[in-house]
Amino acid sequence: MPSCMTKLQCVACHTTYDTGKATTCPTCGPDEGILEVIFDTHRAATTLTRESLKTREPSVWRYAELLPIDPPNLPNNGLRTIGWTPIIGAPALATALGVKRIRLKDDGRSASGSFKDRASVVGVAMASAAGATSIACASTGNAATSMAHCAAVAGIQANIFVARGAPEGKLAQMLAYGARVFEVDGSYDDAYKLSRQSCAEFGWYDRNCAVNPYLVEGKKTAGLEIAEQCADDPPDWVAVSVGDGCTIAGIAKGLRQMRECGVIDWKTRILGVQAEGVAPIMHAIDSNRLDIPTGGTTYADSINVPVPRNWRKAVNAVRESDGVIVGVTDDEIRNATATTGRLAGIFAEPAAAAAVAGIAKACQQGILDDKANVVAMITGNGLKDIRGALSAIGKPIRVAPDLSTVRNTIDAAKRTEARK
Ligand SMILES: *Cc1c(COP(=O)(O)O)cnc(C)c1O
Ligand SMILES: [Zn+2]
Repeated sequence: MPSCMTKLQCVACHTTYDTGKATTCPTCGPDEGILEVIFDTHRAATTLTRESLKTREPSVWRYAELLPIDPPNLPNNGLRTIGWTPIIGAPALATALGVKRIRLKDDGRSASGSFKDRASVVGVAMASAAGATSIACASTGNAATSMAHCAAVAGIQANIFVARGAPEGKLAQMLAYGARVFEVDGSYDDAYKLSRQSCAEFGWYDRNCAVNPYLVEGKKTAGLEIAEQCADDPPDWVAVSVGDGCTIAGIAKGLRQMRECGVIDWKTRILGVQAEGVAPIMHAIDSNRLDIPTGGTTYADSINVPVPRNWRKAVNAVRESDGVIVGVTDDEIRNATATTGRLAGIFAEPAAAAAVAGIAKACQQGILDDKANVVAMITGNGLKDIRGALSAIGKPIRVAPDLSTVRNTIDAAKRTEARK
């Protein structure tokens, strides 16, 4: 099934460009002139149907009509294994949080352990098709980790710019996949600028999501999958954490395109979740402009993005779905990490647990009630940030190597339980 991509359109001035002719709008500039990839969903609908989907491969490439590039045909099938992650019911978690139903879409099981694989697989497939031998990006961690993974699979050199303080698990992954890692003495924004300058200087393929309009099409596949997997059993809300804003915009686009293709006939509201300390997109929903936060921070590194490049797309996505963005504290994220692990059996990294914390927050604020039916995106695996996880959960129980100390511990626990 060939791609039904038609053109690129500037999100600010709406001028259209031929695909391949621009990466950002020349009139509006690289900051404001983000381009959106436009597809002929009418044409896609002739072949992308519920019936045809039944026999397609379990990866992002099942949606070939709605991707900017044809499925890669490398000697190995590494780039064909990403996507189609499971949606798992979490009834105990729903009861604990006070909503009717929660399902978790667990992208922590993706090849490199995060949602970002969806964007990287498209980026690396495009780089590979263009004959690139090097690819680069700046990242708080997961985008780089997943790019390093996909690049290794495709035999391309990955160049990664990280800000100081990226979690060790993510750094270890990148280096293990053979990437060249530049640890920039500065902020994420400094790392971002340096990666862009290096791409221009050395001719590397640019995998930065904000300026590479095709990557969001990879992120979109999570929305396409939610639509297909919940086709006959739709949620009222989809909860997802927000850093740069690409993910939420991509998911909204995927859901919309599945409606346009006639695979689903329902709409769902979007619950964006930001860390309270770094919530420029949450504030932009009200003020309609970007104020860069000062002073605040969060330990959820993947959403610690004070200068989001895609805030406009994110704001539009939330507004069009009649959605909201809530802010959660680091303690609320820690709480959600523990409850998601204990009650749903899913170990989430802080930015992923934030989506669950957002459900709890939205309940407190009266946005969700006991009738709410929510799908939450678990965007990353807890093993990526062990230090962050350990700050959220209990400690092991130290015992001597004999049964009586175990018995004493169990008895003490029983007494505590009985007193409650
Ligand atoms: C990148 C990331 C997000 C947020 O995605 P944005 O596109 O930056 O909004 C959320 N969770 C995890 C685990 C991520 O890696
Ligand atoms: Zn423009």
